[in-house]
Amino acid sequence: MQKMDKLNFLTAGRPNISATTLSALEDLRKLKLDGMELEYVHGLRKNLELAKQIKETKKDLILTAHGPFFINLNSFEQDKIDASIRRIVDSAEQAYLSGAYSLTFHAGFYQGMDKEETYKNIKKNLKTIVKEVKEMGLKIWIRPETTGKETQFGNLDEIISLSQEIDQVLPCVDFSHIHARYGGKFNTKPEFDSILEKIEKGLGKEALSNLHMHLSGINYSAKGERNHLNLADSDFNYKGLMEALKDYKVKGAIVCESPNIEKDALLMKKYYYSL
Ligand SMILES: [Zn+2]
Repeated sequence: MQKMDKLNFLTAGRPNISATTLSALEDLRKLKLDGMELEYVHGLRKNLELAKQIKETKKDLILTAHGPFFINLNSFEQDKIDASIRRIVDSAEQAYLSGAYSLTFHAGFYQGMDKEETYKNIKKNLKTIVKEVKEMGLKIWIRPETTGKETQFGNLDEIISLSQEIDQVLPCVDFSHIHARYGGKFNTKPEFDSILEKIEKGLGKEALSNLHMHLSGINYSAKGERNHLNLADSDFNYKGLMEALKDYKVKGAIVCESPNIEKDALLMKKYYYSL
């Protein structure tokens, strides 16, 4: 598994100025960003030739990947669970062969089931995923993400527990989702500290030296996440978060998901290095 020697600032998908994934890799270097998240969110098109080209072109850039949105590891229907497992394993393969070191995805929905029951189902299916990924020799972190709505499985405690219980699983922490899920909380330096402390307590210091994170401005209601915004148009206190990441010496990848992708990624990176 690839080791992280610093905090890397990535764009979610190719920067707005880039026409293709391959040209994006060149653009990221010129922008002085550290890499990108390969987006399979609207469906993965398997392309092993493209994976090979990305891996050859990326050189020192850091890559992560985001699995399809169309996943529910807690479906009432077994064929939908099977298809979700398939999509995640296929994403892990495409990502690993592209040189990505970490794959995130939204694991599923409670669907009115109680939290314990949902957790059990998702844990069982995630174990199946990791078993397959290991059998295929895919050395990539499998990371369920903290989600932005109370109807979606994935609060921080659930994601930490899965990471404790299953090998090769670690959290993807989406700070904007956590902020939106709790109606505007988790927006101060002490609150960001508390998130990082909880991860360190649950998973050890190693987890903080290898964290996969998401950040953007975000619009939310009482029901949680609505849509992403540029940081300047949102209330998200990204400076406080950068200060917390610096204090806790967090390493890994922070992926900017704002609509102006590369601009906010640079805004975060500049502030972080000014500290
Ligand atoms: Zn996500």
